[in-house]
Amino acid sequence: MQSNDKIYLDNAATTPVDPRVFEAMQPYLTEIFGNPSSIHQYGKIAKVMLEDTRDLIAEFIRCKPKEIFFTSGGTESINTFLKGISLPPGEKNCIITSSIEHMAVLETMNYLNKNFNVIPRYVKPERNGSIDPGEVLDLLDEATIAVSIMHVNNETGVKNDIKKIAEHCKSKNIPFHSDTVQSFGKMDINVKELGVDSISASAHKIYGPKGIGFIYVNENIRYENLLHGGSQERNKRGGTENIPAIAGFQKAVEILKSEMENDIKHYKTLHAQLMTGLNDFSQLFILNSSEYLSVPNIVSISFYKSKINFDSETLFMKLDIDGVAVSGGSACTSGSLKPSHVMQELGHDNETAMATIRISLGRFNTPDDIVRFVKLLKKALGLL
Ligand code: PLP
Repeated sequence: MQSNDKIYLDNAATTPVDPRVFEAMQPYLTEIFGNPSSIHQYGKIAKVMLEDTRDLIAEFIRCKPKEIFFTSGGTESINTFLKGISLPPGEKNCIITSSIEHMAVLETMNYLNKNFNVIPRYVKPERNGSIDPGEVLDLLDEATIAVSIMHVNNETGVKNDIKKIAEHCKSKNIPFHSDTVQSFGKMDINVKELGVDSISASAHKIYGPKGIGFIYVNENIRYENLLHGGSQERNKRGGTENIPAIAGFQKAVEILKSEMENDIKHYKTLHAQLMTGLNDFSQLFILNSSEYLSVPNIVSISFYKSKINFDSETLFMKLDIDGVAVSGGSACTSGSLKPSHVMQELGHDNETAMATIRISLGRFNTPDDIVRFVKLLKKALGLL
């Protein structure tokens, strides 16, 4: 899967499409091209596949098929929940979320605040990068419209106890949404057992295609549509469904159903190997991920500026030139690099935050990738 000698370790950004997924999509890009809303044979075949995929995902997360709505991905799902639950403005005007959410949540909150006066209240992370459910509970009050807390942080891999948060929300009858983009496919998600009212997920993090995802919304939760148009998705999301991508999503979830445990074992093996490799120079960095709290496919480290004699961009360039793809602790905002808000929230100064690398492991990585990566990182750090 890796092309020539490149090493792709940025699987939390996106995963390569599994060849079996690609194969499953092909007929839907050629002979099975019908519009699922058409009532002739062309449409019916597409419609059957669409509904089979809904059934499959519902079974996978243990909800009813009518509680699954296909979207264009995590961002749209999150927008659907946050805007849909807040609008039109009513007496309640607060949404509780965390300061380490993905931009899909934070920017939607900014939009709702600016345009509709919805007040975001942010819970800050603990030192270990997790959100304390007790702090969420403390903020719940009469004005709370809903709560949205991510399951797994995309930069650190740290998991949140969303079951506990859901319990607190339930005790006050407040809807709870969780961004599960990074946990879907990395751990078992049983929405009934977790007690969440809504989750968002995306196919391109689970070896499926980009531009397709879903939102689960408990049938008892009322929310406004984000998109208006045709009567697709039981009148909740207008627009002709992305059938080839849904066929790919179906295959990606089928594979998870039979192979997720193996994937997790594989991530754990590579994770242990990576940690052993990094251990040789552990005095140079802070580990942002947690051995016990993080998913095994994400490792984030921040180098102490005082201990490395170049900036993080140089480190990145060196790794990139050597064919290594990892992610950093910065985001490109208006054309300039800014330290990531997550690293800042963890208490890192700007230089340390910028000197962060996130290594995220995937199904197609091999132990050899890790051996080569550790060597190339050491070389980039001037240790070899
Ligand atoms: N939420 C998290 C935690 C993510 O990591 C991402 C993608 O990186 C998203 C939301 C957005 O998902 P999508 O790319 O499908 O819009």
